[in-house]
Amino acid sequence: MQTGKIGVTSENLFPIIKKFLYSDHDIFLREIVSNAVDATQKLRTLASKGEYKGDVSAARVEVKLDKDAKTITVSDNGIGMTAEEIEKYINQIAFSGANEFLEKYKDDANAIIGHFGLGFYSSFMVSERVDVITKSHKESSQAVKWSCDGNPEFTIEDVEKEDVGTDIVMHINEDSKEFLEENKLEEILDKYCKFLPIPVIYGKKKEWKDGQQVDRDEDNQINETEPAWTKMPSDLKDEDYQKFYRRLYPIGDEPLFNIHLNVDYPFTLTGILYFPKIKNNFEVQKNKIQLYSNQVFVTDSVEGIVPEFLTLLHGVLDSPDIPLNVSRSYLQSDSNVKKISSHINKKVADRLNQIFKDNREDFEKKWDDLKIFIEYGMLTEEKFYDRAMNFFMFKNAEGKYFTYEEYEKLIKDNQTDKDKNLIYLYTTNTEEQYSFIEAAKDKGYDIIVLDDVLAPHLINKFEQKQSDKRFVRVDSDVVENLIKKEDSAKEELSWEQKQDLSPVFQAVCPEDKDYSFIVDFQDLGEAGAPMVITRSEFMRRMKDMSAAQGGM
Ligand code: ADP
Ligand code: MG
Repeated sequence: MQTGKIGVTSENLFPIIKKFLYSDHDIFLREIVSNAVDATQKLRTLASKGEYKGDVSAARVEVKLDKDAKTITVSDNGIGMTAEEIEKYINQIAFSGANEFLEKYKDDANAIIGHFGLGFYSSFMVSERVDVITKSHKESSQAVKWSCDGNPEFTIEDVEKEDVGTDIVMHINEDSKEFLEENKLEEILDKYCKFLPIPVIYGKKKEWKDGQQVDRDEDNQINETEPAWTKMPSDLKDEDYQKFYRRLYPIGDEPLFNIHLNVDYPFTLTGILYFPKIKNNFEVQKNKIQLYSNQVFVTDSVEGIVPEFLTLLHGVLDSPDIPLNVSRSYLQSDSNVKKISSHINKKVADRLNQIFKDNREDFEKKWDDLKIFIEYGMLTEEKFYDRAMNFFMFKNAEGKYFTYEEYEKLIKDNQTDKDKNLIYLYTTNTEEQYSFIEAAKDKGYDIIVLDDVLAPHLINKFEQKQSDKRFVRVDSDVVENLIKKEDSAKEELSWEQKQDLSPVFQAVCPEDKDYSFIVDFQDLGEAGAPMVITRSEFMRRMKDMSAAQGGM
């Protein structure tokens, strides 16, 4: 047996790694299992190049729990290591073997998960000792066992091992006993490993027999090696997308539509994003998008990685180009991440536009469930605003849908004020403002419904972007200032009559110290109400705004 000391820097590094490498200790399993997956993929690459003659068709990784021995073992039938390779890859901290391998097989090894830096050493977060028992794929290799207790000293010795591959045996420490529970382990495997590209086996499939759960003679594979996002969109049907959604979120409403992302230049990004139904008050769980790197789960909190409004979406993103083992603040400033983020932004807008064009009827049907999402995007992302103007829908009081352009055409001749501003009449509540809506309709005006929580902000945004347009709630005084159609000559009250009648109505209006009601008489033609009581649009908006900021 040989003993040795791991590189000088490690003495200082070890305690840090053990405690702080990942605040989330679960991650050790992801690291060790993904190394095992890498090892099998490396062997496949070698076989495909004729550099390895053995059979690689049955690549697999097995996770075993031994409660009595207090060990978790991860075994693979991958590339294995010689004693020299252990020295190189395991002993030299921060030496990423995957990097070197990638360098050598640049073109076809891009499936290798090499982004986790100190991955292997994360096993010491939960172990008092780690053994690596490994036999290299190289012909007539001697199997070796490396063993280390978390101090820089390690031992290495020759052992018997029949098959090529590696067993990583983690002797779980006292503080980490929770990982020796079958259910806990299953839960972590499901979280991090459920879409790994090589079969991962954990125990046997269970069945019920005489009221008891017993093992069947069949391996329990915990992962799906070809999840939907890795396939070509043309190979998938609607059901497949729905099924995959269910796999991600077993409960909840069906999504409205999905976007299958598939980019390989200038960065690699795949994924499927789903649009959930979003109710008026954001009754949707944010941060349901799961981020993967080559099918390894990384995180489900994607703030700073995708634009804020996209965190309302559900689904999966997978990119080996996102640096995954770094801090969130670093991620946010990373230029790749920024590019990816703006790309997703564009894709989402493109896809919505396409759905709108391909099947407008369906788009309109889903609009009410979708609009909050789109409005949120328009308010927070300038570029998205510009793109969304193609498919943003104005719904009028009759339930008809118009694009911005169409709507402008509709009201252009009839709804301008004396300064030639186009006036968009809107209602925030079709029931409360019913009589105003009816009165406006009688005059031949069209009214749009802007009744969700974001509408006031959106109105400000519209007006800010287009200075020749004004939004006026249907019960505001400005309605009366619209240029009226000259068609029918209608009888009106005289100025004196109005002066006499006004105080009568004013007297029954509720008192409000902030802004008063305006009594306005209209023509006395056969249609419509002869008189309206309104409030100033400007004053009302001011009041609404201060109410939203704290109910003053
Ligand atoms: P990375 O995966 O980023 O290279 P790790 O610390 O996870 O970093 O692993 C270091 C190196 O150890 C790997 O690159 C690989 O060469 C080697 N290694 C780890 N686990 C295995 C394994 N199961 N089979 C073969 N080699 C392994
Ligand atoms: Mg690794």
